Amino acid sequence: MSRRLLSCLWCGREIIESDAGRRRRYCRQSCRQRAYEHRNSLKGTGIPDDSVVLSAHEAANLADRWFAARCAAEDVATAIDEGATLEELRALGKALVELARDAERLR
Ligand SMILES: [Zn+2]
Repeated sequence: MSRRLLSCLWCGREIIESDAGRRRRYCRQSCRQRAYEHRNSLKGTGIPDDSVVLSAHEAANLADRWFAARCAAEDVATAIDEGATLEELRALGKALVELARDAERLR
């Protein structure tokens, strides 16, 4: 299965494509505005204007969300090893998908 995530260039959240119109780069107007302000703030700094700059707090939160997703994946693996029921696996799988989806965002 090969799918590509179309994600907002500012916040990283998934962009839901509307079937008409050109490809969107931001999930919402406020993200477009924040990205514009960010590009302006980088002028003259030598930092490429397409850089993804996260605060230490945002980076730590991103790492925390991925860690939660990894723990949920390990829970699924453990449950399989221990012969969990389909119902238990279904619940663990659902939790994993939700955490992984939350981990996609940058901010
Ligand atoms: Zn966004």
